[in-house]
Amino acid sequence: MTSPMPLNFDLTGHNTLGLRASTHYARRIEDASELPELFAQAERDGLPVRLLGGGSNVILGEHYEGITALMATRGKSLSEGADGAVLLEAQAGETWHDLVTWTVAQGLWGLENLALIPGTVGAAPIQNIGAYGVELCDRFHSLDAYDRTTGSVVTLGAADCRFAYRHSVFKEQPGRYVVTTVRLQLKRNGEPELSYRELSGLGSVDHPARVMDAVIALRTSKLPDWRVLGNAGSFFHNPIVSATVGRAFGVANPTAPAYAQADGTIKLSAGWLIEQAGLKGYRSGPVGVSERHALVLVNYGGATRTDLMALAEHVVETVQQRFAIALKREPELL
Ligand SMILES: Cc1cc2nc3c(=O)[nH]c(=O)nc-3n(C[C@H](O)[C@H](O)[C@H](O)COP(=O)(O)OP(=O)(O)OC[C@H]3O[C@@H](n4cnc5c(N)ncnc54)[C@H](O)[C@@H]3O)c2cc1C
Repeated sequence: MTSPMPLNFDLTGHNTLGLRASTHYARRIEDASELPELFAQAERDGLPVRLLGGGSNVILGEHYEGITALMATRGKSLSEGADGAVLLEAQAGETWHDLVTWTVAQGLWGLENLALIPGTVGAAPIQNIGAYGVELCDRFHSLDAYDRTTGSVVTLGAADCRFAYRHSVFKEQPGRYVVTTVRLQLKRNGEPELSYRELSGLGSVDHPARVMDAVIALRTSKLPDWRVLGNAGSFFHNPIVSATVGRAFGVANPTAPAYAQADGTIKLSAGWLIEQAGLKGYRSGPVGVSERHALVLVNYGGATRTDLMALAEHVVETVQQRFAIALKREPELL
């Protein structure tokens, strides 16, 4: 069964930035088997199709002359393996944080550091979500996706997905795949991942809920709630620079956080750069840099993509002038 397609559907409540946005048609996908028919119909009608999950990593334009497919497929299951290994399978439209709490409530280790990240399961591999020392790829088993170029369903392993920091094959070939099912490898007898500085004080931890609660407390204290003040979480990637640039930067800015990477490059803190450039709390009309976290751009109400992009440009230029470091945007212009 296909769901009806509302005309000129309002998407303001479908993006966590709360930007004013609408789409010519919207279509809720409640079963992955609807996808071939959706794309065939779109081709017949000459309309483009884009996918939207929770809208927490996108910057929507004011109007989209096409079909916005809202991923709403549901379902999750666990299969017990040998030595306490547990395979989790979840459908793309499941809410990520609800999946995390569901697994943690069953004493399963693996996803606790990734609590409270907004959005859907199907979008989690797109930018290889990460937080507090864990990335999705660390727990990844495989996924199923509808390949629009061949019209067939494919199963992709970690190597096929080409995961890297906030990156995957889905960013290299945008629009090609619709992720329908994600499988993750969890453990009954896991170890806490406490390498992140702010978790290291937890001491001996015997249940993943303790880590999850600590992550939730940290995130709640740092990030503005997008339900109250529209935002898309971190607006810029932490810049990764060459060892030479990183060393020169460190000499000029001895108090700046800098993290050596395995390949010799150095990761800098985008939030620190923005704050030191004097922009924390900066406001321009309906948008601004959060007063609580310099890496978060916020919508005080009624903003459009144009307002937000003008602010983002100002931040990039100011940081470039002050530190000669280029910031790259994280949320996608959709
Ligand atoms: C307050 C806040 C905090 C955040 N914290 C973090 C964090 O700590 N770490 C982190 O990594 N991210 C973080 N994010 C970013 C965001 O939550 C994640 O990137 C999340 O995975 C996006 O999911 P979504 O369903 O909202 O995707 P959307 O924003 O709806 O879509 C993102 C992209 O994925 C595509 N897409 C969506 N569903 C599918 C699908 N089924 N198949 C193929 N493509 C699809 C869309 O077309 C779009 O290109 C944060 C965001 C907010 C608002």
